[in-house]
Order: sequence, then C-alpha cells, then structure tokens
Amino acid sequence: MNVSVVLFTSDLRLHDHPPLRAALDAAREVVPLFVRDRAVDGAGFAVPNRLAFLADCLRDLDAGLRERGGRLVVRSGDVVEEVCRVACETAAGEVHLSADVSGYAQRREERLRRTLAAQGVRLHVHEAVTTAVAPGTVTPAASDHFAVFTPYFRHWSRQRLRDALGAPRTVRVPDGVGSAGLPSHRGVSVGLASGGETEGRRRLSAWLRGGIADYADRHDDLAGDATSRLSPHLHFGTLSPVELVHRARATGGPGAEAFVRQLAWRDFHRQVLAARPDAAYADYRTRHDRWRTEDTAREEVEAWREGRTGYPVVDAAMRQLRHEGWMHNRGRLLTASFLAKTLYIDWRVGARHFLQLLVDGDVANNQLNWQWVAGTGTDTRPNRVLNPVAQAKRYDPDGAYVRRWVPELAGIEGPVVHEPWKLRGRDRAAVGYPEPVVDLSVGLGRFRRARGLG
Ligand SMILES: Cc1cc2nc3c(=O)[nH]c(=O)nc-3n(C[C@H](O)[C@H](O)[C@H](O)COP(=O)(O)OP(=O)(O)OC[C@H]3O[C@@H](n4cnc5c(N)ncnc54)[C@H](O)[C@@H]3O)c2cc1C
Repeated sequence: MNVSVVLFTSDLRLHDHPPLRAALDAAREVVPLFVRDRAVDGAGFAVPNRLAFLADCLRDLDAGLRERGGRLVVRSGDVVEEVCRVACETAAGEVHLSADVSGYAQRREERLRRTLAAQGVRLHVHEAVTTAVAPGTVTPAASDHFAVFTPYFRHWSRQRLRDALGAPRTVRVPDGVGSAGLPSHRGVSVGLASGGETEGRRRLSAWLRGGIADYADRHDDLAGDATSRLSPHLHFGTLSPVELVHRARATGGPGAEAFVRQLAWRDFHRQVLAARPDAAYADYRTRHDRWRTEDTAREEVEAWREGRTGYPVVDAAMRQLRHEGWMHNRGRLLTASFLAKTLYIDWRVGARHFLQLLVDGDVANNQLNWQWVAGTGTDTRPNRVLNPVAQAKRYDPDGAYVRRWVPELAGIEGPVVHEPWKLRGRDRAAVGYPEPVVDLSVGLGRFRRARGLG
C-alpha cells in the first residue's frame, strides 16, 4: 500500500504510538492528521486553557515530525468528512485511530468506520493507547465493567501490558497534502503549564528522578505540591499511560506503587465511561437528589467559583484553579464536597466550572470524580462529607497553602488562618476576608435530611 492516514486525537505524541507504528509498517507514506473538530468546539469543550495547551502540543508534534522528514497535516471542520477527504485526496487504503471512551468518541469511531468503508478504506482502531489497560479487558463475572475500584485494581494489576514503542526514525508524508496553519491560542490562567510531548517527557524524567520516591507520603500535602502534574499530558496523550506504568514500575518503591495506583484510577473511570457514556451527565447511581441549582443558590455558586466562600482552604483551591488552570487533587476533593454536599448544589454545576478552567479537564476523570464526591458515582461511602476545616488542618497543617493563594490571610500566623472567624474584632475586620457562606452544621443537616439520613 502506498498511503495510510493516522488520525491523532487524544494521543498527541510520537513515542509509544501504536497507530502511527502500524501505519508506517503498512504503507510507504503516512499522513499524520489532526482535525480541529467543529463538534468539540460546539459542545463547549474547546476552552481557552485547553486550547492553549493543545496549540503547544500540535506545534511540538509538527516539529517532531519535521525532524523525521514529515509534518503534521491540520484540517478543521467535521472530523469524519475531513478524514474521508484526506483519504480520498491521497488514495489512502487505511486509517489508523486510537480507541477512546466517551460517547462522542464512540460515535465518531462508528461514523468513521461506516463512511470510510463506503469509500473502500479500512479503519483500524488501536486499543491501550489512551489507557494502560483497555476498557473491557478486565470485567467482573456479571457485568461489562467494574463499578468498584478495589476489585478492578486487583485485576488491572495482574494484566500484562504491551511493551512501549519508541518514536519512529522517519516519517514520509505524501507531497501536496493541504494543511491549515498550526493554531495559536492564549489561556485565561496566567500560571498555565506548557504543553507538548517534549515538555511532557522532560517532566516525566524529572518526576521519575525526583518526586515519585516520596509520592506515597506526600501526595496529599497541599502546600508541598508533591504530585506529578502529568495530568494534562495524560489528557492530551503527550505521554503514554503504558509507558508511564512501565517506567514507574522500573523505578520501584512505595512511591511508584502509589503512583501506578492513581494511573489505574484513570483507567477505572475510563472503563466506567466506555460502558456507561451517559454517566458524563446523568447520575451513575441515583440517590434521588433534589439538588439546589444555579438559579436557586446563585450567590453561593458565585462565591464558590470566585473563591470567597469564607472557608480559606476551599477558597485557596478555587483560586489556584483560576490562576493555574489546575488544582491539587486534595483541593478538588474538598471543593467538590463543599459544593455538592455542604452547599447541596448539583454536582454538574461544579463539574462545568472545572471543565471551563482545568487544563486537564477530561470527561471521564472530571465527571466521574465529581460523581464520586457527590455520592452518585462509584464511591462505596456515598454520604461522607468532608469538613473543610478538618481537611485544612490535616492537609495544610502550617497554613502555607492558604497563605499562598489567599493574600488577605497571608499575614495571619498560626492555625487560626484556617478559621479566620475566630480572630478578634479589629483583626478580623482588618483582613477583609469574607464571612462563611454557610454554617457547616447547617449544611451537614440539610444534606443528611436530603439523603434521608435523619
Ligand atoms: C472533583 C474532581 C475532578 C477531577 N477532574 C479531573 C479532570 O478533569 N482531569 C483529570 O485528569 N483528573 C481529574 N481529577 C483527578 C485528579 O484530581 C487529577 O488527575 C490530579 O489531581 C492531577 O494531578 P497530577 O497529575 O499531579 O496527579 P498525580 O497524583 O501525580 O497522579 C498521576 C495521574 O494519575 C491520574 N489520577 C490521579 N488521581 C486520579 C483520580 N482521582 N481519578 C482518575 N485519575 C487520577 C491522573 O491522570 C494523574 O495525572 C479530578 C478529581 C476530582 C476529585
């Protein structure tokens, strides 16, 4: 065969890319194609922070391909129409694509298969490219997916992963294939991380040399910022989950084990979403909630979004999100619990705000983690409520995280930084920090009544 097409989606890398390897093995020339998909823009997923990161990824991918004698072909429009057009223009015999899990990705694959077949072009879909273990590989006896993480993880850990592939040496692209220019975008968060495979691999090497060893002990330390920050690279696929698991395991130790467990959480949510695509917006397990909404709790929603709830650790995390387009996992847990449980506001309101800003904003991880926290997902303790003051004292014991992100409280010494309402009269007025939007016991009572817990 003369030409194959590789459609890049959530796998914007050259290392460990089975579709690219298969296309290069099958044909003399390959079209590495990225389609700026109109439907993704239309669904509101194309937000500034992720567009800026994506632009970095595409630039880096193009540069990597050029070093190997090729280039990236960029089109925009309907993804299926564009792929078919490119296949037709180049008389390609095959299109290669990584499997993905969302309802949208599943429909895209289906449409591509049908439309390409009508053109006499074969679609090859490659599993375990955007996950370490493909959804559906491990299943319980009576279901198509695991609904509880612990047994899933036991099975997941026993899987033999394929070997990670190196990057190709050369990529020959047919002459004359038209391409739009590479996009360029600016994020809205001033502290946004840079994207691209080169940057992802640099971060990964630094992580394996340094941070991973202490990960088991320090991953919950809000101020320590001791997690990998590889999530946007996993979301855009500039790093391969298979390669990450291999390299973490080769490093060894409790830190690496704890890190690999988090990668399994990522696969876990993906196998849930693959089997239940509607879990992106509908309760995975209804608790018959009658949530407060954006309309009925407007002021509280605004206070939460803007980081002025009067609970310092919640506000610190929400301000980190706005500033960096990223938030520490412990911050995500406690801000989500605060919205969905303490304020009893629909988890979808919070999930939407996160997706608006997160550079790693991801349908599977975001929506299913939100549901986990809201108690409508896979958490086996659906009614637990995180107390933000107790969380702050435990995970930010010195108050350094709060002082970093809430400048009004930067001068407050000691543990009272987590409970500024305890400051005396004049000191309290001087800091200019808001009063709590809700009394925690009132919030807890409302939630317990709503869930029929008395
Ligand atoms: C309410 C809420 C919303 C979230 N939204 C997202 C999201 O949109 N995108 C996203 O990638 N993660 C999301 N997470 C999961 C987690 O918070 C982030 O993956 C993590 O904070 C990213 O930082 P890191 O790369 O330093 O993680 P590390 O601690 O270094 O973990 C390594 C990798 O493991 C995966 N991982 C870690 N924790 C989880 C988890 N709980 N569930 C699934 N995968 C996990 C991520 O891919 C992460 O990059 C969310 C969690 C909560 C509670």
